[in-house]
Amino acid sequence: MAGRCRVCGAPAYARLEYANLQLCRDDFVRFFERRVERTVERYGMFERGSRVAVAVSGGKDSVALLHSLWKLRGKLGVELVAITIDLGIAGHSDRYVPLARRVCERLGVPCRVVDLRGEYGFSVDELRGLRRPVCSLCGAVKRYVLNREARELGAHVLATGHNLDDFLAALLQAYIRGDLRALAKLRPYLPPEGKLVARAKPLVETPERDTKLYVEALGLEHVTWKCPYSSGASSFEYKRVLDLLELEHPSVKFQMLRSFLERIQPLISVRSRASSHALSVASPARALFASFAE
Ligand code: SF4
Repeated sequence: MAGRCRVCGAPAYARLEYANLQLCRDDFVRFFERRVERTVERYGMFERGSRVAVAVSGGKDSVALLHSLWKLRGKLGVELVAITIDLGIAGHSDRYVPLARRVCERLGVPCRVVDLRGEYGFSVDELRGLRRPVCSLCGAVKRYVLNREARELGAHVLATGHNLDDFLAALLQAYIRGDLRALAKLRPYLPPEGKLVARAKPLVETPERDTKLYVEALGLEHVTWKCPYSSGASSFEYKRVLDLLELEHPSVKFQMLRSFLERIQPLISVRSRASSHALSVASPARALFASFAE
């Protein structure tokens, strides 16, 4: 890539159009981790001393999340445990489960592997042919299992690798469906409620492309193939639309996030606790870089 790192002048590794910024490999990795740290702090995701359960599927997002939190664990004062679900998808589970185990082992993070077939009596492959799309059912199953396992592991928070693009795709989907309930719950951090463990999305301010650059920069092993059911997932279409918008209007994704969280979401939120969490995302990439380069 032509161009030089804005921080040190070394050859650029990443060009971040949304911030009009080029960074070398090392400075990009620092930028990425600093943003995760700031996101955790901005939304009050973890308290010091918390046990954080990280959902690890082996995909680039969950691997980037686990790795960055592992590097930040001392600063944040948290203990990490990982949860991987063997969904029982032929030709997929037998590859990503061992990979997720290896990723955790390398970092020394304890990994609870949940065998859906053995422990819950069914696999995702067996959900085919039901009325709802497989991905929709699989998503519901994962939410249930992750919450239950996180609770049993004594975790205070369940952290997932949902990135900025995932968040906005869910936003578009809920908006198009007029699903106010989904919009009200769409937040970077949801506090604990009844039997629900608190849920956090520390990559919510991180574009999907950046998680790919991060795992590649560090040579982190991650899933590079697709789940056989992924072609039916509507989120891919929403992400394509978002990418087209971003191409014409760099940083529009951050603007969407900010507008939603600051202006729209509070109005439709049905949970009074929403106001107890800082929702400001007034200083996205540029401001982050300013503080990062100090
Ligand atoms: Fe489950 Fe669909 Fe994701 Fe495959 S692509 S793991 S079926 S949600």
